[in-house]
Amino acid sequence: MIETRGLIKNFGKIHVLKGVETKIEQGEVVVVIGPSGSGKSTFIRCINRLEEPTGGQIIFEGVDITQQKNEEMNKTRQRMGMVFQQFNLFPNLTVLENITLAPIKVKKMNKEDAQALAMDLLKTVNLEDKKDNYPGQLSGGQQQRIAIVRALAMKPDVMLFDEPTSALDPEMVGEVLDVMKKLAEEGMTMIIVTHEMGFAREVADRVLFIDEGIVLEENTPNELFSNPQKERTKSFLSKVL
Ligand code: ADP
Ligand code: MG
Repeated sequence: MIETRGLIKNFGKIHVLKGVETKIEQGEVVVVIGPSGSGKSTFIRCINRLEEPTGGQIIFEGVDITQQKNEEMNKTRQRMGMVFQQFNLFPNLTVLENITLAPIKVKKMNKEDAQALAMDLLKTVNLEDKKDNYPGQLSGGQQQRIAIVRALAMKPDVMLFDEPTSALDPEMVGEVLDVMKKLAEEGMTMIIVTHEMGFAREVADRVLFIDEGIVLEENTPNELFSNPQKERTKSFLSKVL
């Protein structure tokens, strides 16, 4: 479903991604781990070209999207849901308006259908009673579940998560991970940057260890966590497991 070939990203003189090679199959759940500053966010943001790659290729559903122009790329982006550490909900819109905005504006869905879809999705995260609330009236865990639902309302083919639980109080991490786990069980293709190693072990099909801008090592969670091959992987895991 997604392939990166020799993905390179420089910020000026800073070489962040130095040739990332990956292939992600449909329905696969891939967790990305690695030290702070190693390029995990840059990698995931390059996939939907929130950051423009400096070099290499991104193949999505068989199409090279690296050079796609705005209009075409916007269509491609609609098939990739993204969830950030800082939920990024629109503070001046209600929960229902947050979820229906893009389906109505971008997908030209009619309002009734968009609201019905939003309510269905809200039920799956047990937040249907919050539809008329504003984000500021919700807990972090609730906001992040809304952010996930908002992305799902576009019916994406893949979901990209960049540390979705890192900004949450500890007691709210579980409720967000549970939603992600359910998505995984339903067969969603997911790429997840996270430090939640228990979640990775339980849910991931594969873990990528990114270090200094390359995929240094990748394996099933069990293999990677219990039998890392590279010294740097061992050293990183000894600090986080
Ligand atoms: P990670 O998510 O693994 O912590 P990032 O991808 O955020 O790492 O960052 C990798 C490196 O790229 C860091 O050194 C960071 O300072 C740098 N970087 C990220 N975004 C930018 C940017 N917009 N401009 C300049 N440098 C950046
Ligand atoms: Mg990051």
